[in-house]
This record gives sequence, C-alpha cells and structure tokens, in this order.
Amino acid sequence: GDAFSVLYVDLDRFKTVNDTLGHGAGDRLLLAVAGRMQAAAGAGALVARLGGDEFGIAVPGDRRTGARVGRSLLSALRAPVALGRREVVPGASVGLVGRAERYADPDALLRDADTAMYHAKRAGRARLSVFDQTMHQAVAERFALEHDLRQALRSDQFCIRLQPIVDLRSGAVAGFEALARWEHPTRGLLGPSSFIDLAEELGLIAEIDGRVLDHRPHGLGDMLTMVNVNCSDQSFLDAGLAGRARAAADAAGIPPGCLTLELTERALVATDVAGGLADAIRAAGLKLCVDDFGSGYSSLGLLHRLPVDGLKIDRSFVSDLGHSPPAQAVVRAVVQFSADLGLRTVAEGIETPAQLRALREMGCRYGQGFLFSPPVTADVARAILDAAPWAAQWPLG
Ligand code: C2E
Ligand code: CA
Ligand code: CA
Repeated sequence: GDAFSVLYVDLDRFKTVNDTLGHGAGDRLLLAVAGRMQAAAGAGALVARLGGDEFGIAVPGDRRTGARVGRSLLSALRAPVALGRREVVPGASVGLVGRAERYADPDALLRDADTAMYHAKRAGRARLSVFDQTMHQAVAERFALEHDLRQALRSDQFCIRLQPIVDLRSGAVAGFEALARWEHPTRGLLGPSSFIDLAEELGLIAEIDGRVLDHRPHGLGDMLTMVNVNCSDQSFLDAGLAGRARAAADAAGIPPGCLTLELTERALVATDVAGGLADAIRAAGLKLCVDDFGSGYSSLGLLHRLPVDGLKIDRSFVSDLGHSPPAQAVVRAVVQFSADLGLRTVAEGIETPAQLRALREMGCRYGQGFLFSPPVTADVARAILDAAPWAAQWPLG
C-alpha cells in the first residue's frame, strides 16, 4: 500500500490534571489538545483517540514526513491551556513508526508505536522517539520495576537520607534536605534516579513525597532553620499538600517556618503558581523554594513574580566554578539577584574547597555538597548536629 507512518501520542500531564483539578478540567484539556493535534497533523492525516489521554495519528508519506508532523505537534503542545484559574502546559511524548504500511497486523503496529512513545517518556518526555527493535527489552524491564514499585508502596520500602545544609558564614549546620531512598528487597538501596521518573509516570510520586514528609526524624527539628523536602509537580498540584505538610511539621515538632518545600523550575513553569497553590503553602506557615535553579528554564523574570522564599543554585553551575569565568559571572549574578529579592540562597553540589571559597566570596549564604557530607542516615545527621564539625574549623580550605 501507500507509504505512511504512525504517531503514538501520550499526554505528559493528563493524569495530574485529572486527579487534582477534576475530570471536567481533564475533559477540557483533552478537547483543547485534540484541536491542536488536528491542526498540526494536517488535512491528509487521520487522528484517532485510542483511549484515556492517548492518541494515534496516521500520516501519509515517508518517515521524515511523520517526524515533521510529530515535531510540530510537540511545539503546539508546549503552549499552555487555560483551565479555570490555572494554566497547564499539556506536553506530550510521541512515538513514531515509519513504513507502517509494512505491518500486516495493526495491533503489532500500535504496540511498536506505543513502545517508541514509552521511550520518549523515559528520555525525559516532551519529545519524539522513533521505534527500533531493541526497545522491546527495555519495556520488559520497566514492567518488572513497575510491579516492584507498587509493592514497595504497599510494604513501605521507602526511607530517607539527610544531607546537611551549611551556613557558609559560620560553618554551622543550618538544616537538612531529606532525600528519598528505596530499600529494594533484592537490588539493595536505590536512589531516586532509578524510580522517580517511573513513579511520576505512574502517578505515584505524590505518594512517595508524602512518605518522605512523614519520615521526618524526631529530635532534629528544634535546632534547625531549614528542613527541606522535595516536592514533585504532581504533589504541588494537589490542593491538600499545604495541610498535609503542615500536619507533618506539627507531628515532628518542627516549627512550620522551618519546613521548606523544594520545587523544580519545571514544575513552577508548568503550573500556574499564581493560581493560589503557592499562597496556600505560605498561608500554612511553610516555606517554598526553587530547586535546581539554572538547570532548566532559568527565568529570572518569572522568579520575581513567584511567591518563593528561597532559591537553590543548581549543581551544574557550582561544578563549573573555579575553571570557568563565565560560570563564575552567572553564579555571582544569581547570588546577587537572589539577595536583592530577599531570598534564601543555597548552592548545591559543593565538592571542592575552591568552589566553597568562590561562593563565600560572592556572599552566598548557604551551601550543601559532598565537601561537607553526602546524604546520611538520621543517626549520623544527629551526630553531625551535635559535633558541629565545620564551625570549629571555619573557614574550611
Ligand atoms: P536534588 O533535589 O537536586 O537533590 C540533590 C542531589 O544531589 C541528591 O541526589 C544528592 O545526593 C546529590 N548531591 C548532593 N551533593 C552533591 C555533590 O556534592 N556532588 C554530587 N555529584 N551530587 C551531590 P539524590 O539523593 O540521588 O537525589 C536526586 C534527585 O531526586 C533530587 O535532586 C530530587 O530531584 C529527586 N528526589 C530525591 N528525593 C525526592 C523526593 O522525596 N521526592 C521527589 N519528588 N524527588 C526527590
Ligand atoms: Ca532538592
Ligand atoms: Ca537540587
């Protein structure tokens, strides 16, 4: 038959919208997206909803034509959709099968397109991935991990590690960041890189964030200015977050003003923070900070509009300090800007005395990184707090 290719499209944020803003908002998002999809696909294409938030598009022509349609679709879905008071960037992951006319079995064709779509998601979403045969193995592994992850939530296999946040003026321990770990029954202690993406994709990340909140070790709170937890955009969109976080702080004896929720730039850009979620968190007495600042959108213009209390400078900037004058200039500007806005500035990933010196000299108030300590168990964290190891020999290096 005539050459055609098939695109498999899966929305990146549909489940979050449905779960947190309601099915009415979900329906409106789907309608808006379907319209953009039709427009991007063009007159000769066939667009079909395959169920939920998944769509299939048959595009006449060779693979390059299919890829071109996929890319224009991706850019069409980068523009926000207004849902009541919120704006949501729908985003999509797209799988492509070229030479689709060679398939005798339509199910096999859709399965391969779905597999390619899954790869696009794993590669970081909002992108196009072209099917090839080696992708099948990765899918089998993913199913095994998904099964394990659901089991882990049922039998509570999550724990936390705490990384000290140091006051760079005095060397005192100002606080800790809680980082999730998974005690996998056969694979040992797993870090977030092996499960966060999958948990987000399955809509389970908010539950993991909640476990981390509840895991807070007692007896640390009253001595600290900062107890930081990470918050995914799925958690952030949940209207119950402020109340839950406040209850967790109260239960652990932490003054609410010490509990800081760390949110990535991506989440801040993807969700309309002016819609009141950030205000609810601050009204509950909690603090909010931008995580990984500089790793993504880095919009200084956005920052000053956001009701945030702090900013964490991404490790990628800090690691360039000392051997890259431009990086030095950027970090200096961010530190200055952050101070001018009255934000609490934390530099992440400090590994060398030279990086520490540069940051202190710029006036960056707080820092964390392997130079001080990796993330540790609650017992070790308590010992660090008691020993105050850096204050005694400050300044380091
Ligand atoms: P993050 O929030 O930027 O956390 C800092 C990460 O950098 C941690 O990795 C930490 O171990 C690592 N790190 C700290 N100091 C240094 C350093 O000096 N050098 C280097 N190379 N790395 C350093 P970890 O624990 O593997 O966490 C990775 C990411 O996973 C976190 O990045 C965060 O985005 C996410 N994450 C961790 N726990 C949670 C959680 O409970 N909920 C959510 N939603 N995300 C989490
Ligand atoms: Ca963080
Ligand atoms: Ca970070």
